[in-house]
Order: sequence, then C-alpha cells, then structure tokens
Amino acid sequence: GYQKILEENRKLYNQLQDLKGNIRVYCRVRPSKGAQPNHQCPVSNIDEGSISLIVPSKHGKDGKKTFNFNRVFGPSSTQAEVFSDTQPLIRSVLDGFNVCIFAYGQTGSGKTHTMSGPDNYTEETVGVNYRALKDLFHLSEQRKDTIHYDISVQMLEIYNEQVRDLLTTDSANKRLEIRNSSHNGINVPDANLVPVSSTSEVLNLMNLGQKNRAVSATAMNDRSSRSHSCLTVHVQGRELASGNSLRGCIHLVDLAGSERVDKSEVTGDRLKEAQHINKSLAALGDVIASLAQKQSHVPYRNSKLTQLLQDSLGGQAKTLMFVHVSPEPDAIGETISTLKFAERVSTIELGAARANKDSSEVKELKEQIASLKAASARKD
Ligand code: ADP
Ligand code: MG
Repeated sequence: GYQKILEENRKLYNQLQDLKGNIRVYCRVRPSKGAQPNHQCPVSNIDEGSISLIVPSKHGKDGKKTFNFNRVFGPSSTQAEVFSDTQPLIRSVLDGFNVCIFAYGQTGSGKTHTMSGPDNYTEETVGVNYRALKDLFHLSEQRKDTIHYDISVQMLEIYNEQVRDLLTTDSANKRLEIRNSSHNGINVPDANLVPVSSTSEVLNLMNLGQKNRAVSATAMNDRSSRSHSCLTVHVQGRELASGNSLRGCIHLVDLAGSERVDKSEVTGDRLKEAQHINKSLAALGDVIASLAQKQSHVPYRNSKLTQLLQDSLGGQAKTLMFVHVSPEPDAIGETISTLKFAERVSTIELGAARANKDSSEVKELKEQIASLKAASARKD
C-alpha cells in the first residue's frame, strides 16, 4: 500500500540525507552592478563546490582564501537552477518532513532575489517561495488518488524580537506570542493560517505580505532589511485507504541583513535594531553549529527566530542555508565575515562535499527513491 511505500521512501531519504548531512549550505554570488574592471573583483574563482577570494592585506594575512560549500552558484546562475537543487528538500515536506530554508547575507547581496525574486518578477525570475508552493501543488495533485493533502500558509515578520503577522489587513497588527502545544508543536495561534490550493491564491497572499512589509518600510526606512520574514507552509496529508495522516512543514526565511553596524556611528532605534539582529543571527548560528556538531544542548531559547523554528531545526528536520555574497570590491569585508559565518554553521570539510556528491551509494539511493516515487505516483 501507499503507507508502506511512504515509509520506505522516508527511510531511504533519511539514509541519503545522513550521507549528505541534515544541514546544507549553498553559496550564491549575485551579478556585479558596476562596470568595475574584472581584476578588482575580490571573487577570484567559483566552481561547483567552492569559492575563492582575493583578500586584501588589511582584511587578513593570506592573499587567497577558499571556502567550500555543498554547492556554489555563480553570478550567471538562474532562479530555475537554484530551485532545482532545492526541490528534493521541498518535496520531502509532502512525506512528512520539517524543513527550514534560510537566505543569509548582507543587505543588497540577493536574499530577497533568491526567495521572492525581483520586484517585477516573471515566471522565469520568480524565486524559491513561489516555485516551492507551485511544486507542492503539482506533486500533491499527482498523488491525489492515494493521499489527500491540505496546504496552508502563514507569513510572519520578526522585528526587534517581536513577531507580527504579515497576512493581516488589521492595521493595529499587534505583536504575537509563540506557543508550544503538545498536539500542535510550536505555533503562533493568533497569526492567520490561510488554506491555499492554487498558485493565484499564493500570489495574492504574497502580495499582501509584501504590502505589509512595505507599509512599515515607509515609516521606518527600509525596515525589510532589518527584519526577518518567514513564509511557513503547513502540509497535512491523509492516506485515503487507511485514514493515516502525516504532517510536514517548511519555513522559507528571508533573514535581516547580516552587515555589522558600527556601534560608534549609530544610536537610538538603529542601535537597538542592530543589537536585535546581531543577537538573533548569532543565536541562529549557534543553533545550527551545535546541531552540526551534534551537541546535546541546542540553545533554541536565545532568540524569537530560533524559538519559532525550533520544531524544524534539528531532529529529523532538514536545514538549508543560502549564503549570499556580493562580488563588489567594497563589500569584501562583509563578504569575508559572511563566508566565515557560513563556514562555522556548515559541517563541510575540505573536499568532503564533492566526494559525497559522486559516491555510488548516494547515486544508488537516489535511484531507489526515484523508483519508489514513481511507484507511489501510479494508481494501484
Ligand atoms: P537583499 O534582499 O539581500 O537586500 P536583494 O535581493 O534585494 O538583496 O538584491 C539587491 C539587488 O540586486 C536587487 O535589485 C536585485 O534584483 C539584484 N539581484 C540580486 N541577486 C540577483 C541575481 N542573482 N540576479 C540578478 N539580480 C540580482
Ligand atoms: Mg531583502
């Protein structure tokens, strides 16, 4: 029956993930804006699994530094390419997994481009969020004869350690509490949770979310770069024959800009914002690093962000961090600190990522999963 295939599928998927690790870090370099001559670009080399920088002497002793990641996307990578490497993770939500995908990087490095797309996005340039939902609808439709899925979305913003609903038309938009209930896990009961079944509904909601972020932006001067936004997709599945059910969810998080703010230069609200951002990004780094090192204590309680995502970080959950860097020469300081942060949260050792990628064991498991998926898509 379907349940058995699902079980088998999950087991194989787990084995595959164990080989690759539950935490993955992809690096993406956005195209250069200016007409600066090539030799000035601090990114000297990019290949599938590594990125090399020419580090000016004032930022470190060595001339060249190489960072390794599970995958590196260069400036000419397309949204479709980025998505296709993310797709298996997203699809696993329909098998009952919890997933977190983060966009990390300094302001202007391309986080929103990866997750949402440019302002006037097209079918081609739209980001991971919309593609994820489209794919979930598509896959659930394929499985509809064996399993029924209910999909709903929530969109939250965390600003100055306060959680707010981005899917509200209530102008009061009060701060919300994160709860932990025994049957629901971590949840924000007062935020709108909207059932969706088509991409047009999703687009409407994303527009509403965008508008709510924009409203705060005019009041607070581009608040979007100083808040985290989190699109959460909840999936509930019920196998038609047995009535068995499963639950999965995916958090798609566009993080606040990671740039270090010079404390001698900012005061008041800006200083407070910077401190909150530092605290929550540090907390996220600590949580992921302690998971990657398989430590017994994971410090989820240190920020609202890690509290909110607690259910989906660690355990059987899968984490993907997109680390964004800008190729501009004047961004080199932030680029180095971004890549150092990424290195800290990642489990990758020199060369290990590529070895895994090509191992025959991984290939074999992938084939088995593909054939199980094909089997589960067929009508009995
Ligand atoms: P962030 O959200 O990190 O502040 P944005 O996603 O807003 O950065 O990107 C800054 C600018 O660079 C935007 O105009 C965006 O459209 C552009 N941009 C970023 N990444 C890419 C990319 N991969 N391809 C083309 N343009 C990009
Ligand atoms: Mg942004």
